[in-house]
Amino acid sequence: MDHFLYRDGTLFAEDVPVAEIAAQVGTPFYCYSTATFERHFRLFDEALEGTDHLVCYAMKAASNQAILKTLAALGAGMDVVSGGEYARAKAAGVPGDRIVFSGVGKTCEEIHAALTGGIRQFNVESEPEMAAINQVALELGVKAPITIRVNPDVDAKTHAKIATGKSENKFGIPISRAREVYAHAASLSGLDVIGIDVHIGSQLTQLEPFRLAYEKVAELTETLRADGHNIRRLDLGGGLGIPYERSNEAPPLPVEYGAMVKETLGHLGCELEIEPGRLIAGNAGIMVSKVIYVKEGEDRQFMIIDGAMNDLIRPAMYEAHHDIIPVVEAAPGEEPATYDIVGPVCESGDTFAKGRTMSEVKADDLVAFRSAGAYGAVMASEYNSRPLIPEVLVKDDQFAVIRPRPTFEEMINRDTIPEWL
Ligand SMILES: *Cc1c(COP(=O)(O)O)cnc(C)c1O
Repeated sequence: MDHFLYRDGTLFAEDVPVAEIAAQVGTPFYCYSTATFERHFRLFDEALEGTDHLVCYAMKAASNQAILKTLAALGAGMDVVSGGEYARAKAAGVPGDRIVFSGVGKTCEEIHAALTGGIRQFNVESEPEMAAINQVALELGVKAPITIRVNPDVDAKTHAKIATGKSENKFGIPISRAREVYAHAASLSGLDVIGIDVHIGSQLTQLEPFRLAYEKVAELTETLRADGHNIRRLDLGGGLGIPYERSNEAPPLPVEYGAMVKETLGHLGCELEIEPGRLIAGNAGIMVSKVIYVKEGEDRQFMIIDGAMNDLIRPAMYEAHHDIIPVVEAAPGEEPATYDIVGPVCESGDTFAKGRTMSEVKADDLVAFRSAGAYGAVMASEYNSRPLIPEVLVKDDQFAVIRPRPTFEEMINRDTIPEWL
């Protein structure tokens, strides 16, 4: 559940009317709910109750400083995938020993920054990367804590662009080669090999692929221990899906996921880490947009709104569904209408929904995209010279702009002109 609910027919974010934010901030904008972020973090934390664990929020889902501070205050760790994310986590006050560094292409500069600034562990994705981490650690005279990300070759049964656990994906080392790679890692004196990492994909709507992967990790833990490695931490990745289409989706709940984790891995006595991103942020955010025109096509109506693919790319990139709802609910008995909902960008791909039936709208009405909190603002661009849209955070009856909309002038002034012009 989230905290975007209708009261007397108008949409609220916690105790703030969404229309009031729109009036002050202008459209389009992202709006997040503090209570929803907190609730989702706690659901995971409680799901692993009774185990030694850390929930590391995968901050690539939504990485505004105010969001990171909100979660860090609850004790969240962070899963980062770039030097920029590492810097953001540190700037939000997250201690280094709660930051996990993932990603297939960590550079020596990024490794150096993390080793000097403090890091819980690197999740290593290849042997060349292992060598680089070892090298930087030796230069600094420290030991780098690492896990190795194994690719368990299981089908996550999700969209191809967000599946990461099959042998054809670029992620991790094949689990079949794990013993050899761990032996190599153990021989490098700049590394402290502490555990195993796995992450098989995102927006998983079934527990079975997780279970298959975790069973393989459990088996590998025993094997590696028998080989003499002190495996004491398991990083289980993120990936639990959310109901984007409320009418017909019901992915497993964190508590069910947690029970399965305990069942498959609890007996090993390892410290457990999980890295949820989407489930913490997804339903904690909406994107609010205004209808510019309703245009009659030959055989359909287009709802042209002021939000576009550059603001929320998920429909164009992943064929993703977002529930799109009016900010002011239709009066009872009002006839619904059917629309192709599109943005103003000059691409046919700038289509959010086709043949969507909802209450009738007219120019200047507000609509809200549900479940836009994860992989929304962070994937936005300024394509078509549309300034990045603002982010707003609500807490109870207060709201604050946590990233303002740049002016055209600010946007243009980021460019610099060479001397010869
Ligand atoms: C993206 C990612 C996550 C988070 O995935 P969600 O589906 O958002 O929970 C966790 N770990 C790694 C390594 C990732 O790349």
